[in-house]
Amino acid sequence: MSDKRIGIDWRSESLAAQALGRIDAGTGAISPPIHMSSTFRRSPDYAPERTYIRDENPAFDQAEALLAELEGGEAAMLFASGMAAASAVFMSLKPGDHVLAPTLMYWSLRNWLTGYAREWGLEVDLVDMTDLAAVRDGLKPGRTRLVWIETPGNPLWSVTDIAAVAALAHEAGARLAVDSTVATPVFTRPLALGADLVMHSATKYLNGHSDLCAGALVTRAVDSEWSRLRLVRASLGGIIGSLEAWLLLRGMRTLFPRVRQQAATALDLAQRLAAHPAVASVLYPGLPDFPGHAVAGRQMAGGFGGMLSIRVRGGRDAALAVAASVSLWQRATSLGGTESLIEHRASIEGKDSPVPGDLLRLSVGLEHADDLYVDLDRALRGI
Ligand SMILES: *Cc1c(COP(=O)(O)O)cnc(C)c1O
Repeated sequence: MSDKRIGIDWRSESLAAQALGRIDAGTGAISPPIHMSSTFRRSPDYAPERTYIRDENPAFDQAEALLAELEGGEAAMLFASGMAAASAVFMSLKPGDHVLAPTLMYWSLRNWLTGYAREWGLEVDLVDMTDLAAVRDGLKPGRTRLVWIETPGNPLWSVTDIAAVAALAHEAGARLAVDSTVATPVFTRPLALGADLVMHSATKYLNGHSDLCAGALVTRAVDSEWSRLRLVRASLGGIIGSLEAWLLLRGMRTLFPRVRQQAATALDLAQRLAAHPAVASVLYPGLPDFPGHAVAGRQMAGGFGGMLSIRVRGGRDAALAVAASVSLWQRATSLGGTESLIEHRASIEGKDSPVPGDLLRLSVGLEHADDLYVDLDRALRGI
């Protein structure tokens, strides 16, 4: 959004705070009306226009436009969940197409890709996306249609070089999609680094209050692939509810201060926990000795996110005991809300999980850093 009188473009923070500054023409309302209608009146000549909620919905427009602005994309689409958005990307491909995805990534999507998507006819290979030679070897030029990455990636927060993987993917004739749920547009803009699509679980930081389920895709260009994705959303019906779209827009107004504060607290905790005698290691891209730190420094501007993991001395039982004895941290899955969450991922994922048994995943909320540290410190010391 630009102000033509003074010839400047407002920054992302300003656009988010005002939800693009759109004022309802009929009433002057600063907070937008909620459109609940499922159908829209047609003109007598049946001109192409809005018709039905599953195809297009005015209740989505403002949140989609804001997210497209924040990511620097041409358009965005909301979905009923992050999984609906991600699976739409894969369902827009054709049986026999080859895709490359990370060995470690969001668990439910990895399961879907190696189970359902393979049965459905996609050829899915998993590689370590932090190893560019492995990515190059995994690509099948002319056959690989899509490379999927997640950075920082669950739950080790491994950092993938978006620009480098985009170059490799494009050389092989493939497109690059980035699950940017954890980085958020506050810290990373994958499209500017060469990605073609950005995916978000808007359930997490974009909404930020652990009170709705939503997903989103943002595209670099409105092209034939984007039209196909729109068709997938309309046909499979994974659309977000009108009320949820409104709530998501409200959540996005505070995205920047929330996420910056969460990242500052996460860095503080990562530094303190790295020196804790009961902690074997801290996984956080903001720590200088973290393997992906240099790449993160290049592609994440202003912070390293609000997610970290710790590996507890004493193994699985010790980790479970810590998670069992915290009081301020809440034992729950998900991430990106105002309340801090702790989770023993290996227990959630079951016996085939590649996640170490001594690992606890931490989603840092908006509580005071000292309170969060004291609570963890007590649990780690078994007090
Ligand atoms: C939660 C999550 C998803 C899935 O999103 P839902 O909204 O739960 O469907 C995908 N990727 C990442 C990184 C996530 O954290």
